[in-house]
Amino acid sequence: MQLSEILRGFGIGEYNPGASTGGQWGKTTDHGVITSRSPATGEAIGSVYAASHQDYEWVMDAATKAFTVWRSIPAPRRGEVVRKIGLKLREYKEALGRLVSHENGKILQEGLGEVQEMIDIADFAVGQSRQLYGFTMHSERPAHRMYEQYHPLGPIGVITAFNFPVAVWAWNALLAAVCGDVIVWKPASKTPLTAIAVQRIVAQVLHEQDLPEGIFNLIIGGGSTIGEAMLKDRRLPLISLTGSTPVGKHAATVVSNRLGKLILELGGNNAIILTEHADLKLAIPAVVFGAVGTAGQRCTTTRRLIVHEAILNSVQKALVHAYASLRIGDPLDPKTHVGPLIDTDAVRQFSEALEQVRHEGGEILFGGKVLSGPGYGSRCYVEPTLVTARNDWSIVQQETFAPILYLIPYTGDVRNAIALQNAVPQGLSSAIFTNDLRESEIFLSEIGSDCGIANVNIGTSGAEIGGAFGGEKDTGGGRESGSDAWKAYMRRQTNTINFGTELPLAQGIRFELS
Ligand code: NAD
Repeated sequence: MQLSEILRGFGIGEYNPGASTGGQWGKTTDHGVITSRSPATGEAIGSVYAASHQDYEWVMDAATKAFTVWRSIPAPRRGEVVRKIGLKLREYKEALGRLVSHENGKILQEGLGEVQEMIDIADFAVGQSRQLYGFTMHSERPAHRMYEQYHPLGPIGVITAFNFPVAVWAWNALLAAVCGDVIVWKPASKTPLTAIAVQRIVAQVLHEQDLPEGIFNLIIGGGSTIGEAMLKDRRLPLISLTGSTPVGKHAATVVSNRLGKLILELGGNNAIILTEHADLKLAIPAVVFGAVGTAGQRCTTTRRLIVHEAILNSVQKALVHAYASLRIGDPLDPKTHVGPLIDTDAVRQFSEALEQVRHEGGEILFGGKVLSGPGYGSRCYVEPTLVTARNDWSIVQQETFAPILYLIPYTGDVRNAIALQNAVPQGLSSAIFTNDLRESEIFLSEIGSDCGIANVNIGTSGAEIGGAFGGEKDTGGGRESGSDAWKAYMRRQTNTINFGTELPLAQGIRFELS
């Protein structure tokens, strides 16, 4: 399937509108242009007219109106609409997965996997639409009934990162939709075309179902313009933001200032611990996939490897051997393991991080170079890199969004490894490889990993949608996707009903009118 054919199939031209309420698209052409370039070739794929403030108001009007309709459609019926979106995504899986690879640069298997994740969450959300349960409880007063219920929240703002350009929308939007919310989506400016493709897929379903405009909305523009307008907008009771920690901290300040709700999914600095009792046959491939998958641009990428000194040499050798077999190149070539970074700015950050590592005294065991020459003309390709490091170096404490793996030795008990693993500001994903039950149970216990995700004998990345996804500390504390994450998209209400003939007050308070 050629790129031109994919773009045509999604109605994406050379220039595209940057705002949509479903089937209708904005008309603005004078607010600047966002050009999407293939990280693999550097060539322009297509451009988008950045949305204006008027576009934003038009979208917000449509969303506000649509909410009054959508919230009163029974949740299982909303689930039926999401089921149809899931079916449509199945039809477009190949085309959308390929477009993700073209625009984002992740290898095709991961592009297709991202669309599969959308399909999985659609299925999950359909089931959830019949399970928006609240508790019932016994009242302390006679002839009274108490219960809790969940109502739709309103139009919600979803601001997404470039590295999962379509799946993160689905995690939020499809769950929020069954909850009765309407969605205003601002994608990352680095990946606007995949967002347009998703909007076109969804619009087909809404049209076939005769649903009004404004349920699924798209607004493409800068973070400091459109993004900022969303943060400040009281018509959006919830902002779900996926992105870097500095942007998340700013969003937290602005949204909290108006007492809005937040789901923050921010940066990670994830570690795998290899104890003396690790099965290296499992561990080495998990470490390599975790560290180089999506070219190190996952929030759950393995960035630190905390290795017991007794096995350090054999682990280093095995990793150098595995890294030497990695194929770096065209993300659409099925043999490629590692595609390009998103842009040359990311490459600069990769090089600067390694400079700092060298300055600190770290040794580069493998990689370290920016690639040039035939096939690497976009200058976005780097070698996956292994370096020796100390956990307390400031560069190791940060998330560098590139395939750099820091090897950090530990001695003695597993508690020493856990202390290192926890000694960073972020708290997203973590893993331990061990066949020793005591070690794994300590790692999972209250004195163990402080992350939102803690795995045993699997790596840090590649979470399934069934569990709640998110992390602690500088990762922001939000939870999305499975389990009871749906509750964040609804407002909770406690109801007490008196079916008696008296008016007793709670806590036995007496208040009698003469
Ligand atoms: P980013 O922080 O640069 O941008 C994220 C989004 O925020 C974009 O849509 C951007 O336009 C928007 N934005 C920027 N400034 C804004 C402002 N002032 N107001 C409102 N919105 C604004 O992140 P990125 O480079 O696109 O993505 C990479 C980062 O995302 C990494 O740190 C990664 O760890 C994180 N991430 C986290 C998760 C998670 O679930 N924890 C998932 C994916 C990515």
